[in-house]
Amino acid sequence: MKNRESKPKAIALLSGGLDSTLAVKLILDQGIEVEALNFVTPFCTCNRKGRCEAQHVADRFGIPVKVIGLVEEFFQVIRKPRYGYGSGMNPCLDCRVLMFSRARARMEEVDAAFVFTGEVLGERPMSQRREAMRLIERESGLAGRLLRPLSAKLLPPTIAEKEGLVDRDKLLAVEGRSRKPQIALAEQHNIGDYPCPAGGCRLTDPGFARRMRDLVRHKEDFDLNDVNLLKVGRHFRLSPEVKAVVGRDEEENHRILALAKEGDILFEVQGYGSPITLLRGQAGEGEIHLAAAITARYSDAPADKQEVMVGYGLDYATLDGNLRASSLKEDQLAELRV
Ligand code: SF4
Repeated sequence: MKNRESKPKAIALLSGGLDSTLAVKLILDQGIEVEALNFVTPFCTCNRKGRCEAQHVADRFGIPVKVIGLVEEFFQVIRKPRYGYGSGMNPCLDCRVLMFSRARARMEEVDAAFVFTGEVLGERPMSQRREAMRLIERESGLAGRLLRPLSAKLLPPTIAEKEGLVDRDKLLAVEGRSRKPQIALAEQHNIGDYPCPAGGCRLTDPGFARRMRDLVRHKEDFDLNDVNLLKVGRHFRLSPEVKAVVGRDEEENHRILALAKEGDILFEVQGYGSPITLLRGQAGEGEIHLAAAITARYSDAPADKQEVMVGYGLDYATLDGNLRASSLKEDQLAELRV
């Protein structure tokens, strides 16, 4: 065993889901000090309101957790992933390389012996195939230093195992998509109240992926505001440069107003309940009329009403423009919908 004065230390990638929770438990049980990293992107969905899953798990085990936000570097990956996308707009391999590279940097910074994750061989189609796992390991500079305790016995021994810091016999050989072994293990280790697969990634959701693809195609220099706008309302592509976003309820209307930037044009039908529509991009008269007709379509104006008055402008407080519009027809809407 390697001579170390203090307890060996390891860096965990902790999502707060069952797999990474179990991995932390297995490593702590071997007397290793653990520091957890939790990566958050603008596409993460959290399923425990107001409380980060990873923080919850870290508190339970009494280990420190660092939450690391990835925004601009993650956008770079989505724009041009070296290894392509998964079933949606999820660039999982590049994403893992990015996160694992950051984990390696932390490992070196605090002189930890290795990095570990809750990955299970064959559980996810894109990033947890054997070759993909090897590639991620190599590309992030973690060759030999990345331990997957749940599937370790099915993978070549890591340096930590070879050096005896970790007892390989106490690691597992879980494989495949069935989560039954993990659920049984959670019961065995008395890990109750574990979150069902921790918060997801919007990029794998087909509806969100469609919007994201549209954004990447039409606005390569998109920013966080553009991405946050994708999470709200109905979206319509009016031209390569211009899109409209229509609120579906009052909460979304408020959210759209909060996300409006200089140059965005806002629309609202007058005299009837109305969504807020936001028009973004270099809009000409044609797009302004289209946005007004879409707003009319989703307003509370009676269906037999031929035309409504739509207020529009750069400033929602004044909406100093006015135009008459009739509801856009369903087939036209369908053509524009993103
Ligand atoms: S699902 Fe999303 S967060 Fe998870 S690896 Fe893929 S891109 Fe990254």
